[in-house]
Amino acid sequence: MSTLAPPMGLIAELTHRCPLQCAYCANPLEMVAPRAELSTADWLRVIDEAAEIGILQLHLTGGEPMARPDLAQIVAHAAARGLYTNLITSGVLLSDAAMAELLAAGIDHIQLSFQGAAEDAADRMGGYKGGHARKLEAARRIREAGLTLTTNFVIHRQNIADLPAMIALGEALGSDRIEIAHTQYYGWALKNRAALLPGRAQLDEATAQVAAARERLLGRIVIDYVVPDYYAERPKACMGGWGHRFIHLLPSGVALPCHAAQTIPGLAFASVRDTSLVDIWRSDPAFARFRGTDWMPEPCRGCDQRELDWGGCRCQALALAGDAAGVDPVCHKAPDHAIMAELIAADGPCADVPAPPLVPRRLAGV
Ligand code: SF4
Ligand code: SF4
Repeated sequence: MSTLAPPMGLIAELTHRCPLQCAYCANPLEMVAPRAELSTADWLRVIDEAAEIGILQLHLTGGEPMARPDLAQIVAHAAARGLYTNLITSGVLLSDAAMAELLAAGIDHIQLSFQGAAEDAADRMGGYKGGHARKLEAARRIREAGLTLTTNFVIHRQNIADLPAMIALGEALGSDRIEIAHTQYYGWALKNRAALLPGRAQLDEATAQVAAARERLLGRIVIDYVVPDYYAERPKACMGGWGHRFIHLLPSGVALPCHAAQTIPGLAFASVRDTSLVDIWRSDPAFARFRGTDWMPEPCRGCDQRELDWGGCRCQALALAGDAAGVDPVCHKAPDHAIMAELIAADGPCADVPAPPLVPRRLAGV
């Protein structure tokens, strides 16, 4: 393991608390209760260990990371250890005072998420009346602070028709980068898939709209576009490869190669409460299980894409085809690829049955 390169980033889910209740949330159905969260001292130690391994980026996420009263302290500690800090937030708690605290702590970048372009629909999806208006204020504060602004819009069947309005909103807010991300079907989003999955025609139209906006905004605003795997011919390089570029920490301190890895049976994941981040990265068997290419079955093993997509997503292979060690069924070469057409027929907007009601994300007992 001496040749193992350090991970590029640490994705820190500081808490699963969140004032919003998005039905497309990728958080797990079994979320971490506040009493089980790492303490401030734990997080500061973990940041020291991250710096020791050579991690360069700290992505602060959740849940809503701003629900942690010690967020600025964590940011300041990371900045002092030379880590680039990226806050991923819904923005509803980003008051003037919170912004000032974060700036003083040395925050480098803020990604602000929106539930849509229209206030009513966005507030309905977030389950938080007045949330959209708060986000507009948060965007203004980020710009006035002189920080780079990334606006993030998650799209799905119920808001995809508003995509041009979302791009226009991102533009009007002065975004440097707009991320248009189709829902990724994990956690609550997987539970709500039948109400969220767009149709092929909707996807194609959205892709054309993004291409036109990219051309129009070239040199001014970067548009990132994350497509839904379900319509792809090849899988995504999930997390840049299992145990390859990122460590994902749950609020409880459990360290994962990706946020959904706990859905895979038979893997035991260590916690930073009792194992150092360095040891987890270098010698945890769960991180080694799907690292690299040795674990791959055919046709991945002999495929020229194997070090580009790393065989796709293990959690998706399990969720859709029942085998975490199998070929991601999104791949057109996968033995189970026909499943994708069946899923789209069952859950897409052409299905004979009407879409079921959305199940809002909820943290039990909070
Ligand atoms: S997707 Fe919505 S509910 Fe989930 S953490 Fe983000 S803002 Fe909260
Ligand atoms: S066969 Fe495997 S490595 Fe090749 S494209 Fe498909 S998932 Fe990727």
